[in-house]
Amino acid sequence: MMKKWNVGNEKVITGDTIDVLLNSTHDELAELSAVYDRLPETQCARKTHCCSMLPEATLLEVLAAFKRLGSMQERQRRGIFARIIEYFFINPARITACPFLVETRCTIYENRFFGCRAYGLWSKRHYDKMAGYNRQAKLSLGQQWRKMGITLSDDVLDFQVPYCLDVEVLNGAMVDDSELVLTSHEIADLSARLSPWHGIFNQQYVADLSFLAATMTYGIQSALRMKIDIVRNLLTNPDRTRLDQIQKNIDNTPLPFGPDRENQN
Ligand code: SF4
Repeated sequence: MMKKWNVGNEKVITGDTIDVLLNSTHDELAELSAVYDRLPETQCARKTHCCSMLPEATLLEVLAAFKRLGSMQERQRRGIFARIIEYFFINPARITACPFLVETRCTIYENRFFGCRAYGLWSKRHYDKMAGYNRQAKLSLGQQWRKMGITLSDDVLDFQVPYCLDVEVLNGAMVDDSELVLTSHEIADLSARLSPWHGIFNQQYVADLSFLAATMTYGIQSALRMKIDIVRNLLTNPDRTRLDQIQKNIDNTPLPFGPDRENQN
């Protein structure tokens, strides 16, 4: 049954929205874990190729990651949240690792997204097909930036996470592409119970957790203006000064939801 969420403006996802959703989606989050548990247990060579970018996710998966983030010690959660915002600001200018990756460790491993779990399980054929869609999306992104007078580098536009041959199934039956596709639909259906927020996250925030984090902190218009300014600057002055400045400004950023928000009230 579709729930009715008691949150004000149904166009923008705020810290308040996330708190309301976190407090009312215990069943959906438990069901999401049960879906994940049906995937085979795997081990990999931990080369972390798959972690060279933040994967797209459904809103329910984002909530699971935010819940995990909120349970961390203040210093760690603020540090990772700052990395998420930094990722949003600089990822069109350079390839930067998933912000949840610290050294070679995923800090939200138990709550990592379906995209992370399925990587290494897809067939080469299916993976190449998805990589083709991704390439098209990157090309149209490059055109949008060009309309603003900014040319993204080929390194960024051509970047693809390589096909993985290093994942080994430890427990449970290997799954094929059609089962993985069904699982992704099942997760999308669970997340759709969070409507209208599920659709708003997909359309307005292009299923990008880093975009959501930056807009919850700065507001949509300011976050976008800052991003354009930062990317332009990084591409014309490729030294670390601007990056260090960004890092300093967003370091220790309180989370706009969960424990940091409770402390502010
Ligand atoms: S969430 Fe974790 S497993 Fe997934 S890409 Fe990021 S660091 Fe890697």
